[in-house]
Amino acid sequence: MESEHFDALVIGGGIAGATAAAHLAADFRVALIEAEAAAGYHTTGRSAALWVANAGPEHELGLAEQSFGFLDAPPAGFAAHPILTRRDVAFAVPAAQRDVFHAILSGRRNVREISVAALQALIPALRPGYAVAAALEAGNYDIDVAALLQGFLRQVRARGGVVALRSRSQLIERVGGRWRVEVRGGAVFRAPVLVNAAGAWGDAVAEQAGIPKLGLVPKRRTAVVIDPAPFAVAEWPRLYDPARSWYCKPEARTRLMVSPADATPSHAHDVQPEEMDIAVAVARMQQVLDIPVRRVEHAWAGLRTFTPDGAFAFGAAAEGEGFFWFVGQGGDGILTAPAAGRLLADMVAGRAPDWLPGAARIVAAIDPRRFDRRTP
Ligand SMILES: Cc1cc2nc3c(=O)[nH]c(=O)nc-3n(C[C@H](O)[C@H](O)[C@H](O)COP(=O)(O)OP(=O)(O)OC[C@H]3O[C@@H](n4cnc5c(N)ncnc54)[C@H](O)[C@@H]3O)c2cc1C
Repeated sequence: MESEHFDALVIGGGIAGATAAAHLAADFRVALIEAEAAAGYHTTGRSAALWVANAGPEHELGLAEQSFGFLDAPPAGFAAHPILTRRDVAFAVPAAQRDVFHAILSGRRNVREISVAALQALIPALRPGYAVAAALEAGNYDIDVAALLQGFLRQVRARGGVVALRSRSQLIERVGGRWRVEVRGGAVFRAPVLVNAAGAWGDAVAEQAGIPKLGLVPKRRTAVVIDPAPFAVAEWPRLYDPARSWYCKPEARTRLMVSPADATPSHAHDVQPEEMDIAVAVARMQQVLDIPVRRVEHAWAGLRTFTPDGAFAFGAAAEGEGFFWFVGQGGDGILTAPAAGRLLADMVAGRAPDWLPGAARIVAAIDPRRFDRRTP
């Protein structure tokens, strides 16, 4: 049986695993172990690809802000073209959501109220009479997720790391001070450090390794692509209602992606869109926009995976020497990835993340050991 020795193994070839492996490969010999034939096949390849200003609580904001610098100006040769494209966010406010709207106006940076007529000029498909108020939020972007993922995978390889595709872990054990990971097909990888970046399968991988689960909850989210003819949408902002019960954004310049912002608890699997969620997406969009939908061209669903308290779980496990969690990125795993991967690599190397403002608070907020019931 083929057996290879490394310094660190990363299980999961989504954006989390790829960024962690790329940063780790600068110091260590790394293997990135991915079950599927293509990295990014699951949640990473199914995101809405948004960089969101004002993302979540302090730890997410901190990692998002640090990631922005990388996404905006990646190192030379990382990607053939810019990873970010500016895309403002517009809010169309129905009468019933005035309160939420006022909270957004007072609580968020970069948001300014605009007239409904100004919104109508930006989005000519807006149904007259739907919006009683409107706003525009600057500082938002579309992310080229494929370029980001491929850039990190190239870094892994360029730094001497191995990307092992079609390699689902089947048996994980700690033998002689090393993790021994046997994958489907029989290959065996060994290293003193194991990073669990398996997304929705994070608890399943922990179970294989005999580590207590965190109680991760994958939640299904659906996206639908329609032809918005007769409207030309390429320059439209993203459009939300303040309650975020749906959103839409231009897709590939000529199409519109619509999501019902669903968050249905699921189990880890190759999730597919449900007919009902597709119908809800179209119905919510049509309450706001006067776009005839003759057919849905394409629809997909992905799993956004959350810890029990909703915050990320990055860091050493409560038990299991050399076992690191890198899970629970929920709906912000792409936009926080560059800094998250760097932070995880610092944790593995035992380095202080001096580059991250508020690092001590952030690291405490995302410490996976907070779920260890035996911790006093
Ligand atoms: C519809 C939708 C919209 C979203 N929009 C945004 C957005 O706009 N901005 C944003 O930042 N985020 C967004 N997200 C969230 C983002 O996509 C996720 O946070 C991120 O992709 C999670 O990455 P990951 O690497 O943890 O998971 P994944 O990409 O799922 O990677 C985990 C990998 O682990 C592998 N794996 C599992 N078990 C094993 C095993 N036993 N052995 C080997 N490999 C294994 C899987 O095959 C998978 O490839 C969205 C998600 C969805 C579904």
